[in-house]
Amino acid sequence: MPDTMETNDRNSGIHTATNYKSDIEALVIGAGFSGLRMLLELRERGVPAQILEAGVGIGGAWYWNNYPGCRTDVESSVYCMDFSEELYQEWTWKEQYATQPEVREYLNYVADRFDLRRSISFNSKVTAAYFDNEQNIWHVRTSRGDSLSCRFLVFGTGFVSAAKKIPFPGFDTFQGEWYQTSSWPEEKQSLQGKRVAVIGTGSSGVQVTPLVSHAAKSVHVFQRTPNYILRSRYETISQERATGLKADYSGIWARARENLMGFDQPSAGRTFSELNGDAVSIKRVLDAAYETGGFGFLLQVFDDVFTNKEANETMCEYLREKTFALVKDPETAARLNPDYPLFTKRPVIGHGYLESFNKPHVHLVDVHADPINAIVPTGIRTASGKQFDVDVIIYALGFDAHTGAITGIDLRGREGRTIQSAWSKSIDTYQGLTLEGFPNMFMLSGPKTVLANFPLLASTTAIEIGKMITFVRDHGHKAIEPLPEAQERWSGLCDMIFNGTVMAPHSARVNSWEVGANIPGKPTGSLWFLGGLPAYTAQVAEESIAGYPNYVLS
Ligand code: NAP
Repeated sequence: MPDTMETNDRNSGIHTATNYKSDIEALVIGAGFSGLRMLLELRERGVPAQILEAGVGIGGAWYWNNYPGCRTDVESSVYCMDFSEELYQEWTWKEQYATQPEVREYLNYVADRFDLRRSISFNSKVTAAYFDNEQNIWHVRTSRGDSLSCRFLVFGTGFVSAAKKIPFPGFDTFQGEWYQTSSWPEEKQSLQGKRVAVIGTGSSGVQVTPLVSHAAKSVHVFQRTPNYILRSRYETISQERATGLKADYSGIWARARENLMGFDQPSAGRTFSELNGDAVSIKRVLDAAYETGGFGFLLQVFDDVFTNKEANETMCEYLREKTFALVKDPETAARLNPDYPLFTKRPVIGHGYLESFNKPHVHLVDVHADPINAIVPTGIRTASGKQFDVDVIIYALGFDAHTGAITGIDLRGREGRTIQSAWSKSIDTYQGLTLEGFPNMFMLSGPKTVLANFPLLASTTAIEIGKMITFVRDHGHKAIEPLPEAQERWSGLCDMIFNGTVMAPHSARVNSWEVGANIPGKPTGSLWFLGGLPAYTAQVAEESIAGYPNYVLS
């Protein structure tokens, strides 16, 4: 194994020397938000650590999802690192919902500002990790043939990093250009005057479609399940607003930590029944929340939106009416409208998406009724035999969310137990952080972690994982892993909360990735703790305060 190696950083074009030190105690997989935050935490705690990153640049999901139109759907003022006030004062966000290049630039700035690059090995996709029972260490192998070992292995691979495989027969026979939104090439692609197909209408498909429609000669959008489209607020941040945000650093993060989903937004403060069916009042609160834009609509209307069928349906109907107002052709509008409760699939923020269908060259193709059955050399064929000849296919098919980046590794825990066997029937973890049978292994956003604003969630879990690693080291323990009954209890709690929502009965039928239903053969069940960020933060912190009663320490 070499001590130093040269990697080509795609972002900066600079060759950076990365060091593999033999005294590395913790290996962190992924140089996105969570991996970087973890590295900072470990450094702070004096734990020698190294990041292994598959890409050749910083950013994780924000490195790979380089497609036109990609941007955050959480406000940039909280979609960032919370741990350093200096950093918050130094960095000025240009956009309220930052574009992908801006987020990537930010993460590169963080890496440089905190001198993280010297501890990052790029182009190093982890292919295997085996736990050695005798020595209580992990042996890790990478795609470039390096073998490393460490005491602690931390996954910073995010929720949506392993792309769903293209399932259509013949996709490799296509003679035109094709792209996946999740690994869009760095070089600019010209779609000018081309016939383009977009397959998939989740967040990625909805973001890319309006941009494509500006340039392409024709666009066919292949939709299987419609999504609710929330109003976007893509505005630049004025100097005055930026100053105000910086001055409110402590307030912003205090409010976000108290918010159910880690946003700096007040909750609704009312339930549906409190409005006594008063149509005028209901419309007033819906209009105000819709105008706020983004996830404000979810959290600022009724506090019982996830548990009260009537409240949820009222919001759904409001959004359906918006579609009819924005899309001129009523037939197309009807096909764009979902029939399931709001939030059964993660809602999408759409900027000009619905309006795209008013352009004469943009067409919606319903592949629920008539599924795609093959890709042919000239285009796409559906089950009924219809053929759509195109020059470019854009696949926006989503991800093997939560688990794909972990199960994609030949990962073996105690006594050679594989990750596939651990998650064959049900995808369980303890608090989304640890997994029984996989000692000294941690996940910054594992299955059944809290559903919340990602950077704030990652900050919370990085601190807790840091505490656990410090505890193991300081107390002379060799390994830590959760008790099976604790894991079972946590899964029971996650299921109980999920089953109490109005979304639960519908999630599987609409292929929601949040329950694993978008991947054939994957065990289904809620992959979130839906109890909110404040409750989650309190529960995970309780473990460390009590000295890890739900863990086996050896
Ligand atoms: P997604 O929400 O899972 O959407 C995938 C799309 O592909 C769905 O419309 C799905 O249809 C369709 N699809 C999959 N297989 C298909 C098939 N065989 N035939 C036809 N259609 C098929 O994936 P995504 O859009 O990449 O978004 C995933 C998540 O990533 C988001 O929910 C979000 O958390 C995150 N994300 C965030 C942003 C952002 O905010 N900035 C941007 C992009 C992604 P079905 O629904 O019928 O399965």
